[in-house]
Amino acid sequence: MLAAVLERTGQPLVVDEVSIASPGPREVLVRTAAVGICHSDLHFIDGIYPCPLPTVPGHEVAGVVEAVGSQVSEFKPGDHVIGCLSVFCGHCPHCITGRLVLCATPDVKLPPGTAKRLSRGGEHVNQLLQLSGYAEQILVHEHALVKIRPDMPLDRAALIGCAVMTGFGAVVHSAGVRAGETVAVIGCGGIGLAAINAAYVAGASRIIAVDRIPAKLEFARSLGATDLIDASAGDPVAQMREIVPGGVDHAFEAIGLKQTTEQAWQMIASGGTATVIGMIPPGVKVELHGPDFLREKKIQGSLMGSNRFRVDAPRIIELYLQGRIKLDELISQRIPLARINEGIEALRDGNIARTVVTFDGVA
Ligand SMILES: [Zn+2]
Ligand SMILES: [Zn+2]
Repeated sequence: MLAAVLERTGQPLVVDEVSIASPGPREVLVRTAAVGICHSDLHFIDGIYPCPLPTVPGHEVAGVVEAVGSQVSEFKPGDHVIGCLSVFCGHCPHCITGRLVLCATPDVKLPPGTAKRLSRGGEHVNQLLQLSGYAEQILVHEHALVKIRPDMPLDRAALIGCAVMTGFGAVVHSAGVRAGETVAVIGCGGIGLAAINAAYVAGASRIIAVDRIPAKLEFARSLGATDLIDASAGDPVAQMREIVPGGVDHAFEAIGLKQTTEQAWQMIASGGTATVIGMIPPGVKVELHGPDFLREKKIQGSLMGSNRFRVDAPRIIELYLQGRIKLDELISQRIPLARINEGIEALRDGNIARTVVTFDGVA
């Protein structure tokens, strides 16, 4: 099968023939229909987050089951599925208490470099984030998949595997936004836009979108933002205080920077919560003003939207099919795998929502 291989950080991916193993007892082989190019992939491609090389990135993937292992009972060939990197064991303390994104059980969350699923010319190729979706097929643990209704378009379903799940879950699970509360979202990429849309669905009374690119802000308005802040036009915290003088109940950081994390903290009201969704690079420290803790302000991380993806994905699909969650508009272009580097460069330029790699002939 063809896959896009990251051989060295900072280099374009190489689309090449890669061998994929047959499913082990609890594994599922999926024919990829679509895979989104997510900003987190850039962190690995650029070497900001380490990973063993060579590897196949891509973790926002949907497709059709081709084959299942001997112990798999939940899936059968022909099922439509979304992959999620939040593979879970189902029996560790985190899973049992409903925080399956924190599951680290090594027999499902294989430590980097240990998955023996991909090879090229007889040499090992590393699977990234248990998925490696920039490929015609993926081989994953059955707990990395959720079955979805067959009438859901798979190119839009792919987005639910990471960006939409992460933004939606950050609002609904991590922060628990309630109807009438006020929200600010810093960064209007795929995840920030999904958070804005989820805040709208959750009934937030003010949804303040913050970005430096006017087109992204206008896009945010179409997904439910009530107020727009152009961060290039002056201090975004001061601009936010003109809209909601006391500060917002919830601020979401969806970029992964020290400065915007500190802004999220500064934007929240007494008793408010700042939720950091972005991937802050290793070694970066965030500074918070100490007396703010006496105002019962809270700051928290959110990993993959604290998802319960087997429950969340079908719910998000229902909301999409009813027109309440927008997915069509999030996709700015569809390209074949052969042009994946163009999609990565477009993401780097920062002026589009989402590129999806699609594979012809898959349902
Ligand atoms: Zn992602
Ligand atoms: Zn677990």
